[in-house]
Amino acid sequence: MPDFVIAPPVQPAVPVAGGGRFAVRRIFCVGRNYAEHAREMGGNPEREAPFFFTKPADAVLTGGAPMPYPPMTRNLHHEMELVAAIGQGGTDIPEAAALAHVWGYAAGLDMTRRDLQGEAKQTGRPWDMGKGFDHSAPIGEIVPARGVDPTRGRIALRVNGAVRQSSDLSQMIWSVAETIAFLSRFVALAPGDLIFTGTPEGVGAVVRGDILEGMVEGVGTVRTAIA
Ligand code: MN
Repeated sequence: MPDFVIAPPVQPAVPVAGGGRFAVRRIFCVGRNYAEHAREMGGNPEREAPFFFTKPADAVLTGGAPMPYPPMTRNLHHEMELVAAIGQGGTDIPEAAALAHVWGYAAGLDMTRRDLQGEAKQTGRPWDMGKGFDHSAPIGEIVPARGVDPTRGRIALRVNGAVRQSSDLSQMIWSVAETIAFLSRFVALAPGDLIFTGTPEGVGAVVRGDILEGMVEGVGTVRTAIA
């Protein structure tokens, strides 16, 4: 396109199992969507409606590539999550129709500069620098939605071989369908949007040299090493 005054950015994309790539438009994330994680973060899981934050599309880190330890933090945390990849957009999507908007699913990590997020919470400032930094969204291959049941199945993360997080998708406070329905009231969802659906309990810090291996039963795996 000769009218661009600088080279347009490379389209962020996530590999699809079996071939092809899923072009990423935006990344939405659900906060505190498992009761035990909400409790470990000092929240009350019984009374909170779902809330959302975002990461830049180019935060995706694919193919098992190493994640550079990010600057400006001393407390980088892992959050193992199921990711829904939107194939068909919409607004005010009914819950009963929501899963038909999902092209596929992946295992992903919502990496978090917990110290910056904590400061933001205390000061009432945005979470962006705690959540939306470079390479903050390691993600595995996307599998087509057909055959995936996002309402149940084990979700787990090992760090250096030791289990850090282990739960079940059935423990989500807001299901994937409810999350899509709710989010689509705030924004027009579009093809290419990724939704990180929240993490179970057991979040914790990682350091350089750590190897992170996550899995979602029936979906796939995600892997990275902190470099
Ligand atoms: Mn998260």
